[in-house]
Amino acid sequence: MCFSSCGLPEKLVHNLETAGYSMPTPVQMQVIPASMSYRSLLVSADTGSGKTASFLIPIIALCSRKRLQPYTGKRVPLAIVLAPTRELCLQVEDQAKVLGKGLPFKTALVVGGDPLAQQIYRIDNGVELIVGTPGRLIDLLMKHNVDLSNVSVFVLDEVDCLLERGFRDQAMEIFQALSNPQVMMFSATLHSEVEKMSNSLAKNVVHVSC
Ligand code: AMP
Repeated sequence: MCFSSCGLPEKLVHNLETAGYSMPTPVQMQVIPASMSYRSLLVSADTGSGKTASFLIPIIALCSRKRLQPYTGKRVPLAIVLAPTRELCLQVEDQAKVLGKGLPFKTALVVGGDPLAQQIYRIDNGVELIVGTPGRLIDLLMKHNVDLSNVSVFVLDEVDCLLERGFRDQAMEIFQALSNPQVMMFSATLHSEVEKMSNSLAKNVVHVSC
């Protein structure tokens, strides 16, 4: 498998080449095709495996496809990535910006510690992807500052850490605001709490382990 045979937008393939991604990593070889077939996934993958791009690539492809269709409504988010820490969110958003350059793909970083007003302003101007920590996204949701009704992809990065940090209920609350999204879960360890979370979020989940 190579990136150019995955049905990705030409510009995205170009961005991958520019970033030095000549071949998909093993986790990307499994996650990208399954995700592009709208399957929900539970992926056991460590940092360094290329897991971030494995969920960003299908998200960017999906957003580009949707935004090329005639659309007159407000430009609201199509995908969410939840991660346990501000640092991880920053890394994910940075990579999303590199890979989505030149495509109809804008991101908003929604984390504690940054001014809420700036995050609201950015979302109001139209974004495709929200990358955030559960607490701050819940704040925005409760105050009706974000419309999640069009979100069709929900990613939980480092699910084991999200659970360790006590984010289970907040992640579930965000999930419940969505209408039947594709769910992609990534975890370094697949202990019983992670499996339980996976079962509460999606059925017929594809298990990937690299
Ligand atoms: P991650 O596991 O997502 O933290 O990624 C680890 C590093 O691998 C990051 O610096 C990525 O930019 C890089 N990376 C991801 N996919 C590829 C690829 N297909 N080829 C080369 N580098 C990659």
